[in-house]
Amino acid sequence: MQSKVYFSPLANKKFNSPLLKIKKLLNKLEPEKYFQKKSIIAIKTHFGELGNTAFINPVYIRPVSEVLQQIGTNPYLTDTNTLYVGMRTNSVDHLKNAFFNGFNFSTLQIPVIIADGLRGENSVSVEIDGMLLKSVKLASDIVNADGMVVVSHFKGHEVSGFGGAIKNLSMGCASREGKLEMHSVSIPSVHSDRCTSCGRCLSACAHNAITIKPKAVINNNCTGCARCIAVCPEGAIGINWDESSENTQLKMAEYAYGVHKALKGKILYLNILTNITPACDCYPGNDEPITGDIGFLSSTDPVALDMASFELVKQAMKLKSDPFKEIYSYVDSLIQLKHAEKLGLGSTNYELITLK
Ligand code: SF4
Ligand code: SF4
Repeated sequence: MQSKVYFSPLANKKFNSPLLKIKKLLNKLEPEKYFQKKSIIAIKTHFGELGNTAFINPVYIRPVSEVLQQIGTNPYLTDTNTLYVGMRTNSVDHLKNAFFNGFNFSTLQIPVIIADGLRGENSVSVEIDGMLLKSVKLASDIVNADGMVVVSHFKGHEVSGFGGAIKNLSMGCASREGKLEMHSVSIPSVHSDRCTSCGRCLSACAHNAITIKPKAVINNNCTGCARCIAVCPEGAIGINWDESSENTQLKMAEYAYGVHKALKGKILYLNILTNITPACDCYPGNDEPITGDIGFLSSTDPVALDMASFELVKQAMKLKSDPFKEIYSYVDSLIQLKHAEKLGLGSTNYELITLK
């Protein structure tokens, strides 16, 4: 079955406002049919690590929140804490980071909520019947929303080749425990040279999995909840990034399916194809874009949306093959889409409808 993907190119000779284009793209999806009046709707995006400048222009969120408010819903802007240690590891730093990058009430007139609690511990397990996973661990305030609009920056990614709607829906909506499950097949480990034996990780661990002798050591009781990573003031607890790109992508597709299931399919998607940089917005810096700005796309189908975005980047770069393989030769970036399609999340077969 073909899914519809709506496209509004940035190039035009009329100086039309990109904000009006985004509004039109979202209205094309008939949000009033998905979201009831007075329902609380998450707008899920990525605020960009402090120092990065390639992330989505925060002003692009305004037409999304305006459309949602015009149809009588009550939107909030959200993201989840990161697995690794940086400016978005806990909600306090994360909200400061969001504010500095322009995602705040004064620019958008909607509240910003970090969806997985103070240190990423607010996790809800959702059962799925995946190929690799039987359940996924999601941020509670994503699962508790009445619906969601996922606004994703489409760009390259060192693990999955590209990051778009599926990446934002999966890694972006997972709790810290879920993120660790997608990235790693082993428990976290302590860099003993950085450990000061302060004992904060010991107090935070609910599974009796840490001993201090004299430095912190993690034992086999560890369940991989990843809580200790966020509490260590020295950044001494590290993640083993030892899952393969293929398996991470397969798990991403299963997590994305879990979010879709949790929200009963009440999710609409927008991809932003500007500042298409080689790597993700989690770095505190960025490279130059790999191609020029393309525009905006919307769909009710995240698989079709990412497929169309991928093809548009390929066309813009005048390539016949995977544009992201030029950068990450070891990654087959379409694994995420093929597996998501297999799970019934959407279709790689799409009709691209260009809006005037
Ligand atoms: S919280 Fe960090 S520094 Fe403190 S004991 Fe644990 S690993 Fe060591
Ligand atoms: S990951 Fe969770 S269970 Fe494992 S040591 Fe850290 S806090 Fe304990």
